[in-house]
Amino acid sequence: MATVSGPTIARCLMVTKQAEGEQTTREFRTFEPGALKQGSVRIRVQYSSLNYKDALCASGHPGVARSLPIIPGIDAAGTVVESRAEAFKASDRVMVFHARFGTEVNGAWSEWIDVPADWVYAIPESMSARQAMILGTAGFTAAHSVDQLQKHEVTPDKGEIVVTGATGGVGVCAVKLLSRLGFSVVAVTGKQDKTEWLKMLGASLVVGREALNDTSDRPLLKGRWAGAIDTVGGNTLATILRSTQPTGCVTACGLTSGVELNVTVYPFILRGVTLQGIDSAGVTPDYRQSIWQRLATDYSIAGLDDIADEVDLAGLEPKITQILAGQIAGRVIVKIADE
Ligand code: NDP
Repeated sequence: MATVSGPTIARCLMVTKQAEGEQTTREFRTFEPGALKQGSVRIRVQYSSLNYKDALCASGHPGVARSLPIIPGIDAAGTVVESRAEAFKASDRVMVFHARFGTEVNGAWSEWIDVPADWVYAIPESMSARQAMILGTAGFTAAHSVDQLQKHEVTPDKGEIVVTGATGGVGVCAVKLLSRLGFSVVAVTGKQDKTEWLKMLGASLVVGREALNDTSDRPLLKGRWAGAIDTVGGNTLATILRSTQPTGCVTACGLTSGVELNVTVYPFILRGVTLQGIDSAGVTPDYRQSIWQRLATDYSIAGLDDIADEVDLAGLEPKITQILAGQIAGRVIVKIADE
């Protein structure tokens, strides 16, 4: 068992509820890490991030914060300080991702975390912990979505790809990655003032949300999109499916606009359109590692600082409210310690 020195007292941001029926609150706590369990890894967290899901957890949303009290944070990057698992040793640079991490089991908004070794992944060599967290679950989800489009033979010569929620975490990563791969990207946003910024990130065209909110009862609209990365759901997704070209592919990962999907079967049976669901938490460890390797090589996104806003744990408070109100543009990363 190899160790390197780390703090003996760790600070974290915790969501608690004093009694049943009461509102949840967020507060800083300190704790003394106990003995590390066999098969687990202790990590000094350097960076985490703020995803929409983290804000739901931090607000005590019962569908996300599945046990209370809980430390939110679904993304962590840092250095191993102690390992009781073969696969890792002290000083390894690692990231943590797992469906239960930061929702059911304490997450990343903490100076130290103990996690099972099979939740831990090596940070690609060419990437810093900070860069890994600028991408985080959002960047992974964008890359997973792009990989699915490519598996469905959506190539740049087929036409435009539409990205919704374009200023959000998944959206900005998708815009940057698709444009790096040579696709013509149409970015859909509710933030008109971010038009030039989205173009700078690689969008060929930026349109308002209303352009993809068709309320007619026509089962099919003019087939425009070769593919789509939809992060918002609801009638936006229904509009996209009805206006996708024959054999096009639409990925769906999000629900910020709604969870209902009101479409007929016509896009599927008359145009062969594919609706590809994205569940980034449900992928196999091998697939996750392979997508991270691609994010460091053929999917690498230059200029990550263009999309990152850095805060510390104390600075998260206003950002949590803003992300729930759809007011954040880009990725919020949380610096917890120096690299
Ligand atoms: P963000 O909060 O960073 O971005 C969401 C964006 O959606 C906003 O910035 C805004 O962009 C747009 N938006 C907000 N409210 C509305 C609305 N009412 N109608 C239409 N658009 C709206 O979230 P993420 O990018 O991190 O995640 C996006 C979605 O994907 C979330 O629902 C999240 O839970 C989900 N997700 C799912 C994953 C999976 O594996 N299935 C993994 C990661 C995320 P703009 O102003 O530019 O329109």
